[in-house]
Amino acid sequence: MEDYLIKATAEGVRIYALVTTGLVQEANERHQCSHLSIAALGRAMNGALLFAATMKDNERVTLRFSGDGPLGNVVADAEGTHVRGYVENPNVFLPLKNGKLDVGAGIGKGTLTVTRFLTNAEPFNGFCDLTDGEIASDLTNYLYTSEQTPASVALGVMVDKDGKVIAAGGWFIQAMPDCDEEVLIKLENNVISMPYVTELLNSGFTPEKIVMKIAEGLELSIKEKLPVEFKCRCSKEKVIDMLATLSPKELSEMEQDEVTEVHCQFCNEIYKLTSKEIKAIKNKI
Ligand SMILES: [Zn+2]
Repeated sequence: MEDYLIKATAEGVRIYALVTTGLVQEANERHQCSHLSIAALGRAMNGALLFAATMKDNERVTLRFSGDGPLGNVVADAEGTHVRGYVENPNVFLPLKNGKLDVGAGIGKGTLTVTRFLTNAEPFNGFCDLTDGEIASDLTNYLYTSEQTPASVALGVMVDKDGKVIAAGGWFIQAMPDCDEEVLIKLENNVISMPYVTELLNSGFTPEKIVMKIAEGLELSIKEKLPVEFKCRCSKEKVIDMLATLSPKELSEMEQDEVTEVHCQFCNEIYKLTSKEIKAIKNKI
């Protein structure tokens, strides 16, 4: 199955679902993640894509899970249908909890920061305490407490014993202001009996089928199908612009090295600049 997101509405409620097995595996390979860290990062990236789906195409959202657990910061950033992200300590392993990867213990207690980069406005920062570090419940709680939006988020990443991602995806329900109380009760009942999203994907459920299952008994309208991908915003030009903000002294020091390596945290790409290129940057500033 290719990676994509479905946007639907049902009687005053937004219902989105997505499958991201390919892009989460790409993040897994780029960052050489452990089973636990790709579960955390994959969930966070799915959450970022779902949040971005409620925003305009050129707007961006960054989710930062800063807990006291061994994974350190887990950060995911999405703009439209593009997502990127990283885990501060991608090599962490912890014992399973009830047969599942213990993402909550990996992240620990701390804060979730949501930054929305909006068109024609200053970036907006929202904060809340982490509920349990399991990502989906943290995001549901954030939407409710910080943005006063009743919503429900489910996210999942399944890895095989070698650490390869075999299923990843999620879904998102958000009530719009004019939504009927009865509709919410129906949705709540439907959601209670929903299996884990990775189990659904593994048994052949597409995002379309997932939104249909969530909206069972309601009038559903599927609006859009959008391909999603792992894509970083970095480039050699941006690295050069960033280096141009350094002092001439710092650049002179770099110039002593034959090659300077600049590493992008979000995608693990390494940009190499020669001493000659550094000199050209220095001469321009
Ligand atoms: Zn990058």
